[in-house]
Amino acid sequence: MLILDEPRASDWWVTALWVASLLAAIIIAAVWLPWWVAVAIVVVGLPLLVWWHARSFGYRCAECGAEFTVSAVEDAMAMSWFTSRGAAKRVHCPSCGTRAFMRVLVVRRTSSRTDSSHGGA
Ligand SMILES: [Zn+2]
Repeated sequence: MLILDEPRASDWWVTALWVASLLAAIIIAAVWLPWWVAVAIVVVGLPLLVWWHARSFGYRCAECGAEFTVSAVEDAMAMSWFTSRGAAKRVHCPSCGTRAFMRVLVVRRTSSRTDSSHGGA
């Protein structure tokens, strides 16, 4: 069961952390390791990031109110936009067929409720 929720500040921080980690890994590899390591990180890391984003974020249709997620491919290709009310993405509603900018929401899965305590370094 999918439950879509308003993104919280922590959700954006997690996203920023993922992107920053990937960029840092690419830069470190490009500077200190053979060139193909940086290429390998891009080839493996970018699809992983897209896949993670696609399953972590969902959308609510502005026309019919349906809540849905999109495939990693559509997620990667869709145009993003940021408004004062939050992020939006131009996606296709599987319920009514509308293609429009829709609010980006966070997927909360009902099965497991994990707390945000980190393991120490
Ligand atoms: Zn719809």
